[in-house]
Amino acid sequence: MERYEDEWLNMLMRIGGTDVGSLDDSWINVKNPATGEQVDRVPAGSTDDVSRAVDAAGAASAGWKKKTVRERGIILFHAAEKVREQHKELARLLTLEQGKPLREAIDEVRGYANILEFYAGISASQQGEMVRLGTSGDALVVREPLGICGVIIPWNMPVLIMGWKVGPALLAGNTMVLKPASTTPLTNLRLAQILEASGLPPGVLNIVTGQGEIVGEALVKHPGIQKISFTGSCTTGLRIRELATSQLKELTLELGGSDPMIVMDDADIDKAVDGALRGRFYNAGQTCTAVKRLFVHDAIADTFMQKLKQRIEGLKIGNGLEAGVDMGPLNSPVQRERIVQIVDATRDADAGTILTGGGVLNETPYDRGLFYRPTLVADVMPENRLMSEEVFGPVLPVMTVPDLDTAIREANRTRYGLGASVWTTNLHTAKRAFDEVHAGIVWVNRHLTVPPEVPFGGMNESGIGRENGLHALDSYSRTKTLFLGW
Ligand code: NAD
Repeated sequence: MERYEDEWLNMLMRIGGTDVGSLDDSWINVKNPATGEQVDRVPAGSTDDVSRAVDAAGAASAGWKKKTVRERGIILFHAAEKVREQHKELARLLTLEQGKPLREAIDEVRGYANILEFYAGISASQQGEMVRLGTSGDALVVREPLGICGVIIPWNMPVLIMGWKVGPALLAGNTMVLKPASTTPLTNLRLAQILEASGLPPGVLNIVTGQGEIVGEALVKHPGIQKISFTGSCTTGLRIRELATSQLKELTLELGGSDPMIVMDDADIDKAVDGALRGRFYNAGQTCTAVKRLFVHDAIADTFMQKLKQRIEGLKIGNGLEAGVDMGPLNSPVQRERIVQIVDATRDADAGTILTGGGVLNETPYDRGLFYRPTLVADVMPENRLMSEEVFGPVLPVMTVPDLDTAIREANRTRYGLGASVWTTNLHTAKRAFDEVHAGIVWVNRHLTVPPEVPFGGMNESGIGRENGLHALDSYSRTKTLFLGW
């Protein structure tokens, strides 16, 4: 079924509280990855559009900064309420542009509301501090916003990641220019409208749609922007760091990951199988902290792999809007082609045993969608690309290990350090994994979960800085001290 132009949502960029087209009048088509149909089109923004948005953010800055933290928190709270009221419509839009099952889209939209509520909730406690200095005086230390923040987000979890950035940045009193990914701009635009309908003054949050190399780079280079917060690939992150540090901009970089999951012989096997299934195949494997490498103890490997294979083969793949679908398509042709190439190369080199999956799903009615079969690969060599690169799709490489030492050594054989999990009932094993695996977050008998209260971010090539919790609030503000000499 084709859609026609008059059925589109006709969403435009949001600059200074107004819907606007690009000054260049060019467009990007947004397509449903499950069907190939066009969902909408958005303006392909230009460098001049970025300048317009920075001007609007600058004009709104003084008024927004002047509001009390509590007043800003109340606006976030109202927006969270509206998002909860409209969660079905928002989730449907997210599924249409991103492809994920509706159930996951609803999770993500609720996660966004949770984040806004978390920051709204802590607003009353952000009152600064007084430092008593005895006879020499007293000091009053307050937090000030950084100014205008440029925010660049990816397509895999566009709603949640928008919340991670918008929540703390707005509460701290910054104004913003946000660039969504070009395949998933629609829900971000809707959420900006909801924030404004909740009391956010025009120009505080501006959204410029468009290509990364044009709009993203223009944001990073713009001298009016004080901070860049970027989530995306390592390659883009390194390029942004190069551009941003030449102007001494503040930087948060949330980059890729290749999270290890270690399952020891004393683990609850069924719970670990659940963890691996959700950890890898949630969002069709397109999650930064997905389980991307699995290390299973020799003693339980046969039982574990048999159960996991059975569960993977039971996953229902399809259009995310259909009832009961467990896994949707990949988000773009480029993403699917990367997965095809990496699995085909492993098969051709005989570098692993494909136990299930291992190819695209191209049967009617899926032939126009970007589906890839959920794939389990056993006995993967450590040097194989499935183990050494970030695989952003539904493919799980597995290696068996004789002991914890080997598991930790192999888990650390990566340039990334985002998340990791260990599955065990032994506290000492859990403690050793926490101490020795290189990652910003180590889960025990869990994987993926990142609530708003918990700081989140990577080490090594997984990035710089932390999102969530009070740590993120710190990263969108700086202290200013008033010294009172008596
Ligand atoms: P990407 O780097 O290709 O794109 C991310 C964003 O950057 C998009 O909005 C894109 O348009 C923009 N962009 C592209 N080139 C740019 C440039 N030269 N200058 C400025 N902006 C530019 O990444 P992606 O493929 O969209 O996202 C997937 C990656 O994101 C994976 O590596 C994943 O692990 C990572 N990720 C990390 C986290 C985290 O919190 N650490 C969360 C989600 C995703």
